[in-house]
Amino acid sequence: MTCLSTTCLRLGIEPIPGGSTLASLANLLPPWQWDRVRRSVYQRAGYRCQACGREGMLHCHEVWQYNEETSIQWLRGFATLCKDCHDVKHILFNRDAARHKELMRHFAAVNHISPEEAEAYLEAACQRQLKLDQQGWKVNYGDYNCWMPPLADRQQRRDYARFLRPHSKASPSPDTGLDASYF
Ligand SMILES: [Zn+2]
Repeated sequence: MTCLSTTCLRLGIEPIPGGSTLASLANLLPPWQWDRVRRSVYQRAGYRCQACGREGMLHCHEVWQYNEETSIQWLRGFATLCKDCHDVKHILFNRDAARHKELMRHFAAVNHISPEEAEAYLEAACQRQLKLDQQGWKVNYGDYNCWMPPLADRQQRRDYARFLRPHSKASPSPDTGLDASYF
């Protein structure tokens, strides 16, 4: 094995620096606009998970890239994922030991790697998470900047998210087979 970056895999594990979840379009866009985004993403993917090919309940995953030299996080696009693949992406934030085991098995199966290799990838993702946590991040929505008001700092984003969704919950709630996405 020469590359431990999970971006080299079919299904990777994504570190997210602290505070960056507030930048999620899923949290910041009005619900009707986010619905339009995710439904178009599902349609483009043929209503299948782009990592494992499953159909059924789908999540819209935001693809972010972190540039450590410029301290800018970019929104690069979106991916259609099933719940298990999406949870693998965010396994670093999972606190359920039984679910963690399931997700690691799914991670290894989708990528055709051994359990030992899966653990090595997980450890590398943990290390990158710690590294990313050490700096502050400016958000750039890339092609999607036109959707966003000029939100200068974290507090403004937090306030804006509360303004748009005063009664929103931390966890997504499934609806009609197309699950609300989370970051
Ligand atoms: Zn999947």
